[in-house]
Amino acid sequence: MKELLNYINGEWLKSDKPFIKVSPVNGREIATVYEADKAMVDLAVQKAKEAFEGEWGQVTLQERCRLLRNVADIMERRSEELMLAESTDVGVPYPAARMLNVGRSAFAFRMYADEVANMFEQSHQFTPPNGGHALHYTMRRAKGVVGAISPWNVPLLLLVFKVAPALAMGNCVIAKPSEVTPQSATLLAEIIEEAGFPAGVFNLVHGFGANSAGAFLTENPDVAAFGFTGDTSTGEIIMRSAAKGVRNVCLELGGKNAGIVFADADLDKAVAGTLRSAFTNCGQICYSTERMYVERPIFDEFVKRLGNAVGNMKIGSPEEDGVQMGPLVSHHHRDKVKSMIDEALKDGATFVTGGRIPQFNDEKDNGAFIQPVVAIGLPESASFVRNEVFGPVCHIAPFDTEEEVVKLANNTKYGLASSIWTQNFSKAHRVSSKIRAGNIWINDWQLRDIRTPMGGLGASGVGAQGGRESLEFFSDLINVTARID
Ligand code: NAD
Repeated sequence: MKELLNYINGEWLKSDKPFIKVSPVNGREIATVYEADKAMVDLAVQKAKEAFEGEWGQVTLQERCRLLRNVADIMERRSEELMLAESTDVGVPYPAARMLNVGRSAFAFRMYADEVANMFEQSHQFTPPNGGHALHYTMRRAKGVVGAISPWNVPLLLLVFKVAPALAMGNCVIAKPSEVTPQSATLLAEIIEEAGFPAGVFNLVHGFGANSAGAFLTENPDVAAFGFTGDTSTGEIIMRSAAKGVRNVCLELGGKNAGIVFADADLDKAVAGTLRSAFTNCGQICYSTERMYVERPIFDEFVKRLGNAVGNMKIGSPEEDGVQMGPLVSHHHRDKVKSMIDEALKDGATFVTGGRIPQFNDEKDNGAFIQPVVAIGLPESASFVRNEVFGPVCHIAPFDTEEEVVKLANNTKYGLASSIWTQNFSKAHRVSSKIRAGNIWINDWQLRDIRTPMGGLGASGVGAQGGRESLEFFSDLINVTARID
């Protein structure tokens, strides 16, 4: 069985607290992971600090860019290994793992090399009241040691979105991947080592959240900022922890995203788009649309078509040809999703399709599979409509007016994403300007360009990830004023 170790100051370290990673596809044990204790996390921070105060603190922009590009090249060379790690950890089908997780991660390292090389600063000329001239100019400087804490749903990419900009700006990084999906982060550490980053610049600690590596990292006062993606309740804990010492956080949190289909939409595209938006990665994408609102004249037709499409989805092992959906990430998560599905039934939902645990009569019956659900008939107050399920579920409700659907979509504490389907661009633009969400797609979903900032409003987060915003987050802004007589 694979052994996944911590990577601290260029060394691979075991601990005396191993735990087992189980396959969501068939329940088999696939790796032993060594949980970092407090002393190991503190050692990682100490060594990162020494690296930052040493040579890495003086490293040139050109050298950082060269190293980032090396990482991208090696990721591409080792892409099948990364894809397999990601797919066996999450259960995501191979094509999606290749495209969504691995391809974009390599691109992100290269993109951040370009982005940081082209970063420009501000300057302002000024005439002081007492005469002469002044020139103000800004500088962006690395923060020092920063933390990257990532979730299990798209493990590699969501870690890379933090690590690549943090390294690009010249920081030293402590990465803490999800305990549920530790494999690709371990490969990333190997790749960063192979790329030539000096010891201590990138460190990896495995473990859990509370009373484990996650909490030990956020409690260490020498970590200047945290890039975090995960649950809203965890974001609140991390924010509280970071408040001590007034340290910065960028939080990408949960959502309960609404999709809106107007009667004039291209129905084929809206159905195909919703199939993607609600069921990609088994619904375990923060941007997933778990709530659809469909204009009444096309409601029945939309429900019928989406129900048929979802009912015909091929569920199975990630490596099987034509498989559209794998299992949920873990048995623990399936229990949570199943209980929310059962509660929806009790609350009066009608299931157009799905909701049961499928039977395969092979080893997949030991996996964490669930049939994808299309549901109708629930009131807006039902837990299934209000709370993030983070599984393959979609509740569809009818609406009659633009004003009504805007209210319905905004009736949530979250503000992460929305998709609007209409052929009337004026309407799309008008509605977009009223939806309270950080990311809005018109006639598409998850059309992502990682040069653009993506963040959440309300309980969906603080700050944005992507492009220049991430470089700014992982740096301090200094203003210098020079008097020129
Ligand atoms: P989680 O909050 O349980 O865990 C995320 C990470 O935080 C893990 O590495 C975990 O070990 C760590 N952690 C947990 N408790 C901690 C603590 N007390 N201190 C420090 N670290 C701690 O989230 P998850 O279940 O892995 O991921 C699913 C959630 O992530 C969903 O709510 C989803 O919506 C959200 N998500 C959001 C985005 C986004 O961009 N907004 C993207 C993906 C996932």
